[in-house]
Amino acid sequence: MSPTDALLTVTGLQKSFGGNQVLRSIDLDLADGQVTALVGPSGSGKTTVLRCLNGLETPDGGTVAFRGGPSVDFGAKVSRKEALSLRDRSAMVFQTYNLFPHMTVLENIIEGPVRVQKRARKDAVSDAERLLDRVGLADKRNDHPFNLSGGQQQRVGIVRALALQPDLLLFDEPTSALDPELVGEVLTVIKELAEEKWTMVIVTHELAFAREVADEVVFMDGGVVVEHGHPDQVLRNPREERTRRFVQRLL
Ligand code: ADP
Repeated sequence: MSPTDALLTVTGLQKSFGGNQVLRSIDLDLADGQVTALVGPSGSGKTTVLRCLNGLETPDGGTVAFRGGPSVDFGAKVSRKEALSLRDRSAMVFQTYNLFPHMTVLENIIEGPVRVQKRARKDAVSDAERLLDRVGLADKRNDHPFNLSGGQQQRVGIVRALALQPDLLLFDEPTSALDPELVGEVLTVIKELAEEKWTMVIVTHELAFAREVADEVVFMDGGVVVEHGHPDQVLRNPREERTRRFVQRLL
């Protein structure tokens, strides 16, 4: 894939917190419709990568370039506004859902489209209703998050991301806060999005799921990409010893 084909090209991404260099130099290329599973030990920097792509953290160096823009070079001086412009292209699904507790399900979903994107409320509501229906939660639109199960809350979290009409969906361990019996309903929704050819990056410890839905697996450790490739290669026949040790523990 040449860089011009990629929806997103990340080059040399770096991020430190204090003296802790969390991302040393991360390169990623995402094609349209590609599902990328980002895997690796706790603390290897996976969440930080997603947060940098979504403008929630400002990297110390490297470039994040979406085809058609924005393209941000963090080696130069970057304004907060420029870093935040990345958020026009992607939407994040969080580990602990991050729904607003004082708002109904519907209000949670239309908040971004109406307040941030300035879309007409009527259109945002009808989109939200259509999306809720497709994840089987149409009857929950007026409920508050605390009345929903974790699996239902996460499905609302996914709908909230979809309602922003992003080009790229970022999932940060979307099932790791869920009771085991609720994991399946969330993975099913993500699988359907993969079949619809959404471009997604999924941070996950569910390696069997990664093997099933991902087009590419990226294994990170210590703030670098140790290896990446087809799921069967990386997860079943890793080239690197570090990857082998990791997958042996989890598969
Ligand atoms: P992973 O998702 O692979 O578990 P993270 O990206 O969450 O890894 O974290 C990588 C490292 O960065 C950890 O050591 C974590 O403590 C540190 N870290 C992440 N966010 C912050 C922050 N906001 N402030 C300080 N340290 C952070």
